[in-house]
Amino acid sequence: MATKLLLTFAICRLIVTVGLTLDPAELLRLGVDGQLSVDPSDVETASLDFGLLIRTEPLAVLHPASARDVAKLVKAAYGSNHGFTVSARGHGHSINGQAQTTNGVVIQMSGSRGSGRMASGKPPQPRVWARESYVDVWGGELWIDVLRSTLGYGLAPKSWTDYLYLSVGGTLSNAGISGQAFNHGPQISNVYELDVVTGKGELLTCSEEQNPELFQAVLGGLGQFGIITRARISLEPAPQRVRWIRVLYSNFSAFTTDQEYLISLQGKPTSQKFDYIEGFVIVDEGLINNWRSSFFSPRNPVKISSLGANGGVLYCLEITKNYHESTADTIDQEVESLLKKLNFIPTSVFTTDLLYVDFLDRVHKAELKLRSKGLWEVPHPWLNLFVPKSKIADFDKGVFKGILGNKTSGPILIYPMNKNKWDPRSSVVTPDEDVFYLVALLRSALDNGEETRSLECLTDQNRRILRFCDDAGIKVKQYLPHYTTQEEWMDHFGDKWDRFHQMKMEFDPRHILATGQQIFRPSF
Ligand code: FAD
Repeated sequence: MATKLLLTFAICRLIVTVGLTLDPAELLRLGVDGQLSVDPSDVETASLDFGLLIRTEPLAVLHPASARDVAKLVKAAYGSNHGFTVSARGHGHSINGQAQTTNGVVIQMSGSRGSGRMASGKPPQPRVWARESYVDVWGGELWIDVLRSTLGYGLAPKSWTDYLYLSVGGTLSNAGISGQAFNHGPQISNVYELDVVTGKGELLTCSEEQNPELFQAVLGGLGQFGIITRARISLEPAPQRVRWIRVLYSNFSAFTTDQEYLISLQGKPTSQKFDYIEGFVIVDEGLINNWRSSFFSPRNPVKISSLGANGGVLYCLEITKNYHESTADTIDQEVESLLKKLNFIPTSVFTTDLLYVDFLDRVHKAELKLRSKGLWEVPHPWLNLFVPKSKIADFDKGVFKGILGNKTSGPILIYPMNKNKWDPRSSVVTPDEDVFYLVALLRSALDNGEETRSLECLTDQNRRILRFCDDAGIKVKQYLPHYTTQEEWMDHFGDKWDRFHQMKMEFDPRHILATGQQIFRPSF
């Protein structure tokens, strides 16, 4: 009864605000098994994200119990006379309001199962198919829970993000990248099948063979074509342990030459390559002994000045080798023979050894530390760019040694990937070269009087970096892109725009879905 009253209230609010002519009884008859809520705390949560830069309140929030609930709501939105928008929200870890919506309903895909709020039914638990080496998961499942469910079978997904408290649907709508991408491709290259609720409210299964156009469009599709309710993810035998190594460079060219050499080993047998290749840029002394670097010994802090950093900037290559305890006797030799081919500063090798799970979940530890200091829930004007290999040295000169001015406000990641591991049919766009780098400026803005850490200053720096790339002819593509006009989006998608637009007309013709991306305006 209470649920029914709450639902009526939610629907009345929708009707008053958007002037729907729908009969409330009609929406009530939708009979979702989950919960449609206008609880202020639900609305508040759905109006925010990790970026804390944009705030848009939805009219209501649906906590779905199943794909059927998702389909019922989208169908109602699609079929209504005046229409309302619907945005899936995973874990809300976007930066620029991508999962928010105004004049519409947010479907809170992550977290419903544990909340105990559901009237009847909950989203399905992960189902592992051990013999076939894949797992079926709910679109709102967090990657940490995917990992926990597969480890019981001695299996694990192959391609990761650095941080696991992100939803499957959220990362598959972008790409999902980390240091394994050079070898396995992004997460979108490691999916066999999806269930998707399109913008017409149809629930379709898609894969390479079945509805292939929808499958490719949804992968990296920024939530524009449908809501992923199930993903079938490829698995491999889970390693037990990880040898985790960091080495330093003062010379950028030596650093990138080594990174590019290491990713060129992608086709070699496992024993002859690393499993994970990333790197980061150290532009001031603060960072090297900071959060992502907690692994350098606190008793032996690294001094940039003692390492002959060129232009005050150091580069850290971060690599890992996975292993099973049964093969522990060969790991030292394998690592040694790979390291021998590299040109890092000889005294700068930092090694640690840990459980595979602890390695994958490493950023969560940093999160807990930052939370305890009140430094997690702050604005995050992040900038993530794919930079073509041919221009990465220009980027170094102009940005790391130029615009950043030896000041940073968070980790700066840099690592190359092989384009041949990215399916050109997916919606994601990457530079037009065989190798391109991710450069991720993961900054936190602080209101502590330090001008260089203010939101204004960091946002301005982002603008200057983009302008510099434009002026210097560095054809970057934004990862987790953020634009506000269709012209900018057309430019972003380039050759892929016509197809993207065509798929939108086919699968979400009223432009109901994921309006927070600001690519298409609702057509009502
Ligand atoms: P949300 O922010 O909730 O949603 C993102 C977009 O996807 C929205 O447009 C939304 O409408 C849409 N969407 C959400 N769920 C679905 C669904 N089921 N079906 C269809 N569309 C959906 N990314 C990487 O690739 N690698 C990293 O290592 C990495 N590390 C990160 C670390 C941190 C601390 C943070 C905050 C982000 C990181 N990201 C990384 C970025 C992250 O992958 C994206 O922000 C991703 O969108 C977050 O997932 P989410 O579940 O929070 O999505």
